[in-house]
Amino acid sequence: MAYVIPAPRTVSVPVKGAADGDEFPVRRIYCVGRNYVEHAIEMGHTGREAPFFFLKPADAVLPAREGEVAAMRYPSLTKSLHHEVELVVAIGTGGRCIAAERAMDHVWGYAVGLDMTRRDLQNDMKKQGRPWCIGKGFDQAAPIGAIVPAAQCRVGPETAIELKVNGSVRQASTIGKLIWSIPEIIEQLSAAWDLAPGDLIFTGTPEGVAAVVPGDTLEARVDGVGSLAVKIVE
Ligand code: MN
Repeated sequence: MAYVIPAPRTVSVPVKGAADGDEFPVRRIYCVGRNYVEHAIEMGHTGREAPFFFLKPADAVLPAREGEVAAMRYPSLTKSLHHEVELVVAIGTGGRCIAAERAMDHVWGYAVGLDMTRRDLQNDMKKQGRPWCIGKGFDQAAPIGAIVPAAQCRVGPETAIELKVNGSVRQASTIGKLIWSIPEIIEQLSAAWDLAPGDLIFTGTPEGVAAVVPGDTLEARVDGVGSLAVKIVE
């Protein structure tokens, strides 16, 4: 069997320390909305609500290898490109209706990611009651650092998450401030969709989201997991 047009490539993300440069293949990118109280408040919400989800296409991934600076093109149509630093959970074993108590068995690893957002377009869509896709699901909207196998890192409540722009701290929090914990996210997500190996979950961003412009360099870090650097280019 052959394909009638060129087949899309499999999107993948580098794995820290992998022998032979093996990579993690990406199936879907799920994102959790408003999962830190202070960020929910800065977006005009109460800070406490049931978790909700949106998706980015897999090929929105922009791999940002440790020690390198990945180039992200300033996207079209927007005048307000926002950064959202997030802990990313990589699913290694699929399932549906996964109980929170069993959820961590499905986690293959972790990474730091950026949920880049065309905020002006997202806000326009929100006002009109339309889908967010144009604000969240554009090309290169998901820069992500190397994935670290879960056995090789410890992610706990005190784990720091941070984003700097041009060397100044813009976002700083801890994973313990997630409204919905990682097991709870997996439980709720897998009630709505069948999870499968290769799924990534962006777990939400803390407060401090703001706009970046061409020439800015973003450095994101989750302690014990890794870091990434992205430069915005014209
Ligand atoms: Mn986000």
